[in-house]
Amino acid sequence: MNTTYKDYYQVLGVGRNATAKEIKNTYRKLARKYHPDANPNDPKAEERFKDISEAYEVLRDEKRREAYDRTGRYFAGGGPEAGWQTFDPGDLGFGFGDLFSGFGGFGDAGSLPRKGSDLVYNVHLSFEEAINGKEVSLGIDRDVPCDVCRGGGAQPGTSVSICSTCGGSGKISENQGFFSVARICPTCRGRGRIAASPCSACGGAGHTLRSTVERVRMPAGVVDGSKIKFKGKGQPGKNGGPPGDLFLIAKVEAHPWFTRKGADVLLDVPVTFPEAALGGTVEIPTIEGTVALKIPAGTQDGQTFRLKGKGAPKLKGTGSGDMLATIRILVPKELSGEERELVARLAKLSKEDPRRTAFS
Ligand SMILES: [Zn+2]
Ligand SMILES: [Zn+2]
Repeated sequence: MNTTYKDYYQVLGVGRNATAKEIKNTYRKLARKYHPDANPNDPKAEERFKDISEAYEVLRDEKRREAYDRTGRYFAGGGPEAGWQTFDPGDLGFGFGDLFSGFGGFGDAGSLPRKGSDLVYNVHLSFEEAINGKEVSLGIDRDVPCDVCRGGGAQPGTSVSICSTCGGSGKISENQGFFSVARICPTCRGRGRIAASPCSACGGAGHTLRSTVERVRMPAGVVDGSKIKFKGKGQPGKNGGPPGDLFLIAKVEAHPWFTRKGADVLLDVPVTFPEAALGGTVEIPTIEGTVALKIPAGTQDGQTFRLKGKGAPKLKGTGSGDMLATIRILVPKELSGEERELVARLAKLSKEDPRRTAFS
């Protein structure tokens, strides 16, 4: 499965309000430029050509584009196996069905067992939710065989014939320059058979979408971008193949003062020059509440103190990470008259020449 996020508008270099005509013209220009025929033995151009084609496949189709816009920035990694969707808590996200119809058809061709497609949802979490874990409700649309035609696609009691375009294989070969590309047969849409009268319940597709709401748990300790796999929770397999997997991708909000590096929690601690020079105890926040941090006399700017076990739970293994408190010495932007006098006196008293030490 392709796990790269893709902004199709960015891929084509068009605005989000681009008209169908603009999209088409831009696609044509780019496709000509990056077409494998024009760039023999250039894998980068080929990759780009694939990306452009994929973006265009979604944005050219009004329904797919609308679904893509509605469900978030990202959708569809690479062809039939992928189905990117975004999920926001509170939005059960029904109505993703359109997204699959364009790509799901491959599995119908032939009778070989095929693994079901993976489902991918982005789950938005606050900083705290990422640390503590969170149960979320997902509205999941799964492709199931149509009850009425039992997956055959024909209205019960009517006849089914072999597709004459593809001879029943569901695929046709097309030459594209140096490449011979297997495509889904446009006549039977990959099914290999043609129903004299298509099933009225599924429109002849042989499958329908069933929506269920499922509770799944984002484990404690995820970071932004963590990908959690739920084995077998994706789309059902075809012809007895295993089901695909469900992936939840954590999208974690930034915290105003904490940041994460794996299980470690990072914090910048502002201190004054006298505090750093004289040392002492400063109160700092941790994810479990305030603690007292002892800093020695002569603490330097950028010095980091490690508070064992005060980080986030480890996603793999047991225990917690640490908190890394980094000292930032603040220089006052304004001084009162008396402060200015004292600092000037300090400057006169100080024998240290930091430049001479540093550059000798
Ligand atoms: Zn049906
Ligand atoms: Zn066919």
